[in-house]
Parts: sequence; C-alpha cells; structure tokens
Amino acid sequence: MIHTRPTKIVCTIGPATSSLAAIRGLVNAGMNVARLNFSHGTWEEHEQRIETIRAVEKEYGTNIAILQDLGGPKIRTGNIPPELATVETGDTVRIAPLHGTANPPSGTIPIGYDHLLEDIPPGGTVLVDDGKVELEVLKLCADSLTCRVVRGGRIESRKGVTFPDQQLQMKTPTDEDLQALEFGLAHDIDYAAVSFVQSADDIERTRDFIKKKGKDTPIIAKIERKIALQNIEKIILSSDAVMVARGDLGVESDITMVPVYQERIVRLARNQGKAVIIATQMLESMMESELPLRAEASDIANAVYSGADAIMLSGETSVGHHPEAAVRTMARIAGNMYQYMGIDESTRHHSDESLGDPQGVAMSQAACMAARQVEASYLVAHTLSGKTARLIARQRPPQTIVAITPLESTRRRLALYWGVSALFVPGIELSFLQAIKKGDQELIASGLAKPGEKIIVTAGIPEGRSGVTNIMKIHIIGSE
Ligand code: ATP
Ligand code: MG
Ligand code: MG
Repeated sequence: MIHTRPTKIVCTIGPATSSLAAIRGLVNAGMNVARLNFSHGTWEEHEQRIETIRAVEKEYGTNIAILQDLGGPKIRTGNIPPELATVETGDTVRIAPLHGTANPPSGTIPIGYDHLLEDIPPGGTVLVDDGKVELEVLKLCADSLTCRVVRGGRIESRKGVTFPDQQLQMKTPTDEDLQALEFGLAHDIDYAAVSFVQSADDIERTRDFIKKKGKDTPIIAKIERKIALQNIEKIILSSDAVMVARGDLGVESDITMVPVYQERIVRLARNQGKAVIIATQMLESMMESELPLRAEASDIANAVYSGADAIMLSGETSVGHHPEAAVRTMARIAGNMYQYMGIDESTRHHSDESLGDPQGVAMSQAACMAARQVEASYLVAHTLSGKTARLIARQRPPQTIVAITPLESTRRRLALYWGVSALFVPGIELSFLQAIKKGDQELIASGLAKPGEKIIVTAGIPEGRSGVTNIMKIHIIGSE
C-alpha cells in the first residue's frame, strides 16, 4: 500500500486541548506526536495531560509519542496588566526587571531578566514575542528603561524577549530544565527536546543526565540559535532528531535566510538518518481563522516536498480557537501534496553513506529495492531499537513501512518518523518464522494488510539481539 500521509504531525498540547474530548479530537484529526511545552503551565497540568494522552492512545489502539520540550534559557515577559498590553508605534514605554515575586514598578512592563538595567544600553533593541513587537532603549532610569516603540502590537504575558545585539550567557539545558527532565523521565516521555542548543556538548550533557537516570530517551536538538548553524553537522550527529525552531531562529538570524537554513537542516538530517521536525507558524492564522492562508498551505506543502519527517503546530493547538481544524487542515495539505509528489524520484534518498552501520544500511537498501522489484505492498521490519525501520524510512520508499516490535518504547518513538507505522507484538525470543507468522496475524488484525498481499520482511537472527538485522524474506501474508 502506498502511504496516504507519511509526514507526521506534532501538536502542542495546552489549555485549549487538555480535556479528554480535545485530545480525542486531535488524535482523530491526525496527531502523531504530542508536545508538552515546559515553558508554560505547571508540572501538575502536564502530568494530567500525559495521563489523558496515554488513555486516548490506549482507547484508540494507536501510537502517540510524547515530546517534552524543555524551555531553555529563554527570557520572557512577566504578567502584563491589561492596560499595558497594547503598545503603538511611536509610543514611549518603560520596561523593568522582574525580581522573583517582587512587584515591578507600576506602569512598567516586567521582563524576567535580572540584569536588564546593566546589560541593555541606550540604543539597544528589544524584541518581544518572536519579534512581533520591537522596542528601542532610550534612557536608563533608576528602576527601569525608557523605550520607544519601533513596531507596535500586543505584548502578552510569558512571551519571549530577545536582545539581538547582546551576547548573553546561555547555558542549556538549564538547572530548571534538568529538574523538569527528571520529572519527564519519571513519566516515561518518549522524546526530550533541548532548546537553544549551541553545540554538540549541550546534547552530550543531556544524554549523560538521561543515562544517569537509567533511561535511553532520545534527544531532539532545537535549532534556533545562529551559533548552532555553525556547529550544525556535529549537533545533528550527536542528537536523535532535530527541530527547525523557526520562531527564535527568525529572531536571532536574518529572517530572509530562514528558508535556506530550513532546507539545509532537512537535508543534513535526512542524510544522517535523523528525524527532522519543521516548527512555528505553520498555520498561525488558524489561531483565529477557520481557514489557512494560501502561503501557509504552501509552507506545509514545501516541508512535505523536502521530505521532513514531521510538521508541528504550536499556539494553533495549545491556545488557538480551532485546534482540531488546524490539524485536519495540516493533514489534508500534507496528504494532498504527497499524493501528487509521492512518485517524484527527486525526493527519494540515494545516498550510500554507511552511517557507521554498513550492515543496517545494506539491509534497508536491499529491502527497498526488493519491494520495488516484486511490487510488494509493505516493508515490514521486525525490530527492537527501531533502527531498521528508521533506516528504511530514510530511503523514503513508496510502500508503507511497518515496524513490529516487542518494546513499548520503540513502538511509540517511531510515531515521529516519516511513513512508519508500528505494531506491538510481545515475544522477543520468537524464531524468524514464528515472528513472521505472528506479524502476519497482527497486520491482518490491525486492518493494515490482507492475506495474500506480498510484503518484504526484515529481521535479525539469532533473535533477541539489538542492532543486527541480517535476514530478509519476500513473503506472502498468510503463507508459510
Ligand atoms: P517556544 O520557544 O518553546 O516555542 P513559545 O512561547 O513560542 O515557546 P509555543 O509552544 O510555540 O510557545 O506556543 C505558542 C504560544 O501558545 C505561547 O507563546 C503561549 O502563549 C501559548 N501556549 C503554548 N503552550 C501553552 C500552555 N501549556 N499554557 C499556556 N499557554 C501556552
Ligand atoms: Mg514557539
Ligand atoms: Mg523556543
């Protein structure tokens, strides 16, 4: 069977989508991965969301990976009183550092950065909310900075604040991030995303922390700093997946270069067999509107065309007015685009790079070639770590990829990968032929495939060892 919509959808879960009904709606509409943004809300709220997502996943017999997004060292606005929320171009406003729970001086916009008065000189630029509002510092006063509004708009609470001319020290993950991560690991999150990554070191430190907690949770590097672009190859190599976080990337770097960076990151990640997510403003107008902009539809189609593994919704699903419609719209645009370009050879992957795993690459290439030659309808990978399924997905084959795994963690994690469906089949110690038989039963039971269909099956023998796919069968479902 040819994919209907191989590009996966990541939805940010927030106040608009925390109820059981809302999560069901998102899953029905096409959500594959649920993102919990630890920059917002309380741990208790996130815990509740995790429970709800797991309950719906079980109820629907589907796979939803949970992505914990660690906020990172992001400076944010404090609580903005309603009378200060709208600033107009040309206005004069005052901003003040927010010290702990102390009340900011009245009439000032609080900014969660202790060294605001020392570090941001007159003439300096202040960007709020992914650059939507721009201020220029005019004068340093005793308890605040007087600023001119260069670009007006709404300043809401807990929005990001950037000082583009300023080199601020940025350690990521922060100590608070690691505490949040410990909480996430205890709740068996499927991915941890590190914000504002600067170098591969940031990923290594996170990995060490995860290992110390006795877990092997995969790590997503959020690419949103200019300096990360200089270290991009190493960062991708050290991570399990990357996110093109266009919000802060568009503020920190030249916004007219963001599409170029996006394309470059997608290509590098695909070459290395790492998953890549495109994020931010994909359907921003659907926060309010029931219909997308033409340009948004094309942005999604472009991400599909580039072969990204996943596309993401942020505010659209966390606080927007039409979360379910946004997911449906995204799924339809992505599906339509794939139906058109799915046969386009130019987006296939032809790299022979061994990725340090020549045997895995050889097996996955052989499986894809065999599927094409014998016109098989599925590529079925029996896998522990999920690696063979990922390597097959790296080739972007036209056949649906099914991973059969005895590990719950692998089943869920694969929800992020292009074109991969996963089935949980217990029994690590089954022999190759027994496993194929069991796999056939599951494929039929899940409604994915029918008896008599031709498939390609890969596995490793002897069974039960990770990372050794070494056998392939051209198989008819239901036959011996
Ligand atoms: P990041 O830099 O991690 O993307 P963000 O502030 O841009 O942080 P998004 O997840 O992109 O956050 O969501 C966009 C907006 O939706 C946020 O600025 C916030 O106003 C709102 N939002 C998202 N998640 C939540 C939540 N759990 N609770 C409250 N508001 C939220
Ligand atoms: Mg954002
Ligand atoms: Mg961010």
